[in-house]
Amino acid sequence: MTAPTADLLALGRDYYLPVYRPRQMVLERGQGSRLWDSEGREYVDWAAGIAVCGLGHNDPDLHGALLEQAGKLWHTSNAFLSEPPLHLAEELVQASRFARRVFLCNSGAEANEAAIKLVRKWAAAQGRAPERRVIVTFRGSFHGRTLATVTATAQPKYQEGYEPLPSGFRYAGFNDIAQLEAAMAGGDVAAVMLEPVQGEGGVMPAAPGYLRQVRELCDRHGALLVLDEIQVGMGRTGTLFAHWQDEVVPDIVTLAKALGGGFPVGAMLAGPKVAEVMQFGAHGSTFGGNPLAAAVARVALRKLASAQIEANVARQSQALREGLMAVGGEFDLFEQVRGRGLMLGAVLKPAYAGRAGEILDHAATHGLLLLQAGPDVLRLVPALNLTDADVAEGLVRLRAALAGFVGR
Ligand SMILES: *Cc1c(COP(=O)(O)O)cnc(C)c1O
Repeated sequence: MTAPTADLLALGRDYYLPVYRPRQMVLERGQGSRLWDSEGREYVDWAAGIAVCGLGHNDPDLHGALLEQAGKLWHTSNAFLSEPPLHLAEELVQASRFARRVFLCNSGAEANEAAIKLVRKWAAAQGRAPERRVIVTFRGSFHGRTLATVTATAQPKYQEGYEPLPSGFRYAGFNDIAQLEAAMAGGDVAAVMLEPVQGEGGVMPAAPGYLRQVRELCDRHGALLVLDEIQVGMGRTGTLFAHWQDEVVPDIVTLAKALGGGFPVGAMLAGPKVAEVMQFGAHGSTFGGNPLAAAVARVALRKLASAQIEANVARQSQALREGLMAVGGEFDLFEQVRGRGLMLGAVLKPAYAGRAGEILDHAATHGLLLLQAGPDVLRLVPALNLTDADVAEGLVRLRAALAGFVGR
C-alpha cells in the first residue's frame, strides 16, 4: 500500500501550496519519542510536532480515548451538546486556577483570535471608542497566521505582503518594562498580550519579575493581561501553566498545541473580568469543542498535569541542559542554553550565526529531529515523557551531527 518515498515527496512538491519546506522524508509511525520514516529509518524526536505531542507518539491512553469516542459520536456542532467538551471545559477551568469560562476551538490562531475579539468586546462594553482598544504585543512574538493574529505577531517577516493589516495593535520590546510603560501612557490600551517564553522568537523567557510588572501596568491602566500559553502551556515549562512560575493572575489564557496531544484543539480561558462579556451570538465555531478532540484533550490534560510529568520535565530538562552544554562546549558552538523546562534553546555563537538550519540537516542525517527558532537558535521541545534513553541517545546523535557540521 505504501508508495515509494520519491513519489510521495513529488506529490508534496507538486500539489501542496509551497508555504512549507518540509524535510525530504516521509514519517510513517511513532512510538514515544521515536519516529520511523518510510525507508524504515529511526529518529529520536526532540521536536514533538512543534511542541504538540506532549505525551510522545501513540500514547496508549490517548489512543484509547480517541477510539472509544470514535465508536460513539464524532461531531455535533455547537447547536447541540455532547459530553466530552462539557467535561473538558470544567476540567480546564478547575486546572487553570483563574478562569471561569472556556471557549473551545481548533487551533492556536483561533484561540488568540477569540482572545483579541474578547478584549475588544470587553473594551466596547466599557464604552471605549474603537481607537482606544489598542492591544500591545512584543517584538519577537508569535501569535498565529490569521490576519489579526499575524498583526499581533510583531515580526515583519510574517506580515509582509498581507497589508492592509487590521489596526489596533502596538508593539513594544520584550522584557523592557520602560517601553511598555511608554506604550501604555496614552491610556488607549485595552490589553497586553504576550508569551511567558517567546517560542518562535528564539526561546526567550520573560525575565524574572517581568510578568508581575506587566500585570501591575495593566492594573494601573485598566488593561487586560492576555497570556499566549499555546506553546509554553500544558506542562512544557515545568508547571501546567507557565505563568504559575511568574506568580501572576492573567485575565485570558490561550492554549492549543499540546492540549490535544496531537489532535487539533485549542481553547481560550476567560477570567472573572471577561467571562460574561461575550453573550449569545458573539462568537462561534463549527468544529470547536468537537467530541473527538475533547475526549482526547481530557486525557492529555489529566496526564500532562500529573506529578510524574512535572518531575520528568525537571529531570530531563536538567539532563538536556547539561548534555547541550557539554557537546556545545566540545565544539565551541553555543553562546548560551536558555529556556524553561522542556522548552530549550541553544543559541549559536556569532561565528555560526544563521546556520541553525544546517545543523538540523546534520541532526536528521544522524537520526535526530530538532527544530530551530529563527536562524541562530536550535530549539528543543521534546515530549514531556521523554525517557533517560531518549535523552542519552539523542545526545549521542547530536554530538555526531555537530562533529559533522564543524567538519571534524
Ligand atoms: C503555534 C503558536 C501559535 C499558533 O498556533 P496554530 O495552531 O499554528 O494556529 C500561536 N501562539 C504561539 C505562542 C504558538 O507557539
